[in-house]
Amino acid sequence: MEKVEQLKNHLADVVHLRHAAAVLGWDQQVNMPPGGAPARAEQLATLSRLAHEKFVAEETGRLIEAAEAEVAGLDADHDAAALVRVVRHDYDLATRVPTALVEELARVTSQAHEIWARAREQADFAAFAPTLERILDLKRQEAEALGYKDRIYDALLDQYEPHMKTVDVERLFGELRTELVPFVAQIFERLDAVDDTPVRKRYDVERQAEFGLQVIKKLGYDLTRGRQDKSVHPFTTEFSINDVRITTRYQEDWMPSALFGSIHEAGHAMYEQGCYQGYEGTFLAGGTSLGVHESQSRLWENVVGRSRAFWSYFYGDLQRLFPEQLGQVDLEAFYRAINAVSRSLIRVEADEVTYNLHIMLRFELENDLLEGKLAVRDLRDAWNAKMEAYLGITPPDDGKHGVLQDVHWSSGLIGYFPTYSLGNFLSVQYWEKAVQDVPSIPADIARGEFGSLLTWLRENIHQHGRKYWPAELTQRVTGEPIQVRSFLRYLKEKYTDIYGL
Ligand code: ZN
Repeated sequence: MEKVEQLKNHLADVVHLRHAAAVLGWDQQVNMPPGGAPARAEQLATLSRLAHEKFVAEETGRLIEAAEAEVAGLDADHDAAALVRVVRHDYDLATRVPTALVEELARVTSQAHEIWARAREQADFAAFAPTLERILDLKRQEAEALGYKDRIYDALLDQYEPHMKTVDVERLFGELRTELVPFVAQIFERLDAVDDTPVRKRYDVERQAEFGLQVIKKLGYDLTRGRQDKSVHPFTTEFSINDVRITTRYQEDWMPSALFGSIHEAGHAMYEQGCYQGYEGTFLAGGTSLGVHESQSRLWENVVGRSRAFWSYFYGDLQRLFPEQLGQVDLEAFYRAINAVSRSLIRVEADEVTYNLHIMLRFELENDLLEGKLAVRDLRDAWNAKMEAYLGITPPDDGKHGVLQDVHWSSGLIGYFPTYSLGNFLSVQYWEKAVQDVPSIPADIARGEFGSLLTWLRENIHQHGRKYWPAELTQRVTGEPIQVRSFLRYLKEKYTDIYGL
């Protein structure tokens, strides 16, 4: 595989430059004093430019062609064939969009951030509308340059969820809408059935940190190949399969924020840490898509972390750390408190039940905007109408409770939102298969033994890195394409019990 080796060697520099930029980005959010910002922006710009230039160089194109010829006769399952396939995909994405358009998008979105932040603060949608109009126009041009067969949205979605089609996402959301909207309405009738005050008391931040770290270590996040720090926005970043870092943030008056945030990021990190070591430094390392990545964080955070089995093991430890807050709260009351549903207006604060309705709304609006069925000036009203239809509530403002709440559109991230829901659907689909293969998993979790689940995830998902496209991976792992049935069954069973429906 001489040609494949040449391609790999050529791209090693790209991988190293990207990882070096990631180290600087991590430092910026975790350690850097504010004064470092201007110099850091320059350093990051240089590294990103060098990585980009090296990657989109004509030489890369020639090396890919030569490698493609070399792997042509190989089984699709062969690592070399997979590597060339993944590099080709990324290369096409990176080279199809004209440089002038890439630069214009970068310029407009960097200015848009300020405009959006101010508009959000002042809950003034009209102040952001012209900027969003401009961004949408550029994203349409980008989609045309990338190319698509059926729907313009396909081109943008493909950047985050390779080969996923808009019609398939619509079908999944259609099934979700039919069953979930009436179910949510039923729960809303009985919101009083669950009291979440036990987790809204004052919780010492140091002790929260101590407990959170104990939990993620126990789950299997390897701290000899990772670490946890504090940052304003929690994230996971990796510089190697053997250096995958996470961050969290603490809220004194809402304990679930840091704990489930840590478990969530640890879920992302364990996916990266579980990659086959032979893929180190190549394009095959990492997660295969944002949706599959999110399936791993959500599986640990919600399916495991918000389960009775999990807390039947950990609750005693938590009570001992917080006797004043939880001494009089029994396990069942605590379990219900961490699973409380609310009439959520804010996506990032939404519970498991309502979360995907927030995503569905954004996905529908993005499509309508891109296809010209909805004008930007009518977006605010369309947003509010969908909130009323799906969640039975109208936002009191257009700022942090309404149409301006998310940073994504101002950053040019259109086509990104559905990956959150795809991750939620997959989290339960994979979980069901894991339990079917290893029936002891729930009982293992109840005695604080997480190795059986992690081993299953490593063997079936993590080790493969980017070798299989998300649809192939899901088909291989579960024997069927992505579906929403498992997720709906899980939600209905869990919340029918919690809310006594
Ligand atoms: Zn995530």
